[in-house]
Amino acid sequence: MAIPGKTEVPIAIIGGGAAGVWQAAALSMLGALDLTIVEPSEALGRGLAYSTSNPGHLLNVTADKLDAHPLEGFEPFIPWLERHGMMAGETYFPRKVYGDYMDAVVSAIRQRACLSHHVARARSLTPVPGGFRVMLDNGDELLAHQVVLALGNLKPRRLAPIEMPGLAEDPWNIPQAAMAGADEVVIAGTGLTAIDAVLSVANVSPNARFTLAANRPFMPPSDAKNVSWPGVADLTPDRPSRLWRSVIAGIRSNPEGDWITVVEALKTRTAEFWQNWSPGDRATFARHGLRHWLHHRHRTPPPSHKMIAQLIANRRLTLCRGRISSIRKAPSGLALRVGDREMTADLVINATGPSVDPRDEPLLSSALDDGLVTPDPLGLGLKVDLSGQSVTADGSPAKGLYILGAWTRGVFFEVVPIPMLRKHAMNIASEASRHASWRSG
Ligand SMILES: Cc1cc2nc3c(=O)[nH]c(=O)nc-3n(C[C@H](O)[C@H](O)[C@H](O)COP(=O)(O)OP(=O)(O)OC[C@H]3O[C@@H](n4cnc5c(N)ncnc54)[C@H](O)[C@@H]3O)c2cc1C
Repeated sequence: MAIPGKTEVPIAIIGGGAAGVWQAAALSMLGALDLTIVEPSEALGRGLAYSTSNPGHLLNVTADKLDAHPLEGFEPFIPWLERHGMMAGETYFPRKVYGDYMDAVVSAIRQRACLSHHVARARSLTPVPGGFRVMLDNGDELLAHQVVLALGNLKPRRLAPIEMPGLAEDPWNIPQAAMAGADEVVIAGTGLTAIDAVLSVANVSPNARFTLAANRPFMPPSDAKNVSWPGVADLTPDRPSRLWRSVIAGIRSNPEGDWITVVEALKTRTAEFWQNWSPGDRATFARHGLRHWLHHRHRTPPPSHKMIAQLIANRRLTLCRGRISSIRKAPSGLALRVGDREMTADLVINATGPSVDPRDEPLLSSALDDGLVTPDPLGLGLKVDLSGQSVTADGSPAKGLYILGAWTRGVFFEVVPIPMLRKHAMNIASEASRHASWRSG
C-alpha cells in the first residue's frame, strides 16, 4: 500500500553501527534493492566499538572468531585481512581495523543495492497506515513500510546532575584536553569500558594514576586461547541450578584447569539454555547468576590485560570498593565520595555500563508511548518474537518493526558479538522479505 507523505522507503534501518550495516547486508542478500540507514555519524558500520582510532583499543577476540555465521556474497574478515597483507593467525587486531573492514562491507552492499544514508538521529517513531513515520532531528521525515531498530547501547546513567569540568559522563567520548592534563583519574566501573578508558588516558597522560571503583570490583580476565571443555556438549540443564552444578563439576573435573576454560566453552551454548528455560527460571538466573556470568564472560585481549597488570604492579592502578555517591568541584579538580572514602581527581569517567531504560532514548520513548515496543519483564531490554519482530503492549507482534542487537538481550541472551548480530540480522531479513514488495525492484 502506498503511504502518502514525504520520503517513502520500503525499509529503514535506524542506527548505522555494525548491527545496522550487517542488517543492510542481509537484506541486500535477500534481494532488497532500496535500503535506507539513519545514522548521525558520517561513517557507517563503525558505531561505538569500531570508531576508535586508538591502536591500543583491540578486538576482544581473535580475528577468526568474528567470521562465524558468514553472509553469502560478503567477503569474511580473515580473507579481507589476508588480501590487505595482514596475517590473521590468532592476532587481536585494533578495533579500527574491523572498522576499515566494515567500510568494505558497505561498499559491497552498494554494489548490490541503492543504500541511502540520512546523517541524522531519529527522534520519534509512530505507526501510520501501511508502515511507520520516522521523524529525524534534521527535520526530515521518512515513511517506511518496515523499520529495523539497531540502536546499540545507550550511554550510562549520569553520575552527577550537572556538567562539571573534568567529569566525563560519556566513556566513549572523553575530551582530549581533559585526558592530557590528568594525573589522578577515578573511573566508575571495572569492566571492559573502564579498561578502554584507562588505555585512552594512559596513551596521552603517561604518568596518570587510576582508581577504578565499583561495589564489587572485578577486572575481566584475559581472553583464553584454544580452550576446550568437552563436557559442554553433554549439558542439558533444564534449570539454572542444574547449570550451576554442572559448571562447578566441570571446573573440578576439567583437566585443562580452571573456570576460564569452562566459561569460555559455555558461551557457545548459553543462548540455547536461556531460550529453553521458563520465564521463572530466567528471572531466577537474572536475579542471582547474571551479574556473575557477565563478570566472567567478558574477556580482555591479552595485550591490554598485560598493560593493566603492569599498571597494577607499578601501583598506578588500584581497585576500590564502593560506588561514587557524590561529586563536587574542588579548588583543583573534583572532590568525590567513593564508598566511605573521600578522594580528589583531575578526571572522573563514568564507565558504569549502559542504561537499559528505553525512556532514556527519545526514539524508544516515543515508540513506548505508541505501544510499538514493550520492556521485557526482566528489565534487560525490549520484547521481540523469535523472528526479531517487536512485541507490542497488547502482546501481538508490531508487524514490520524489528529490533536487532543489545535491546533483545532478554529474549536471545547472546546478542552483541558480531557473529550473533549477523545471525539475527539474517532472521530479520527473512521475515521482512516475506512481507516486502522489494523483489519486484
Ligand atoms: C568497546 C567495545 C568493544 C567490542 N568488541 C567486540 C569484539 O571484539 N568482538 C565482537 O564480536 N563484539 C565486540 N563488541 C560488541 C559490539 O557491541 C558489537 O560488535 C557491535 O559493535 C554492536 O553494534 P551496534 O550497531 O549494535 O551498536 P553500536 O556500535 O552502538 O551502534 C549503534 C549505532 O546506532 C546509532 N543510533 C543510536 N540511536 C540512534 C537514533 N535514535 N537515530 C539514529 N541512529 C542512532 C548510533 O549513532 C550508533 O552508531 C564490542 C563492543 C564495544 C562497546
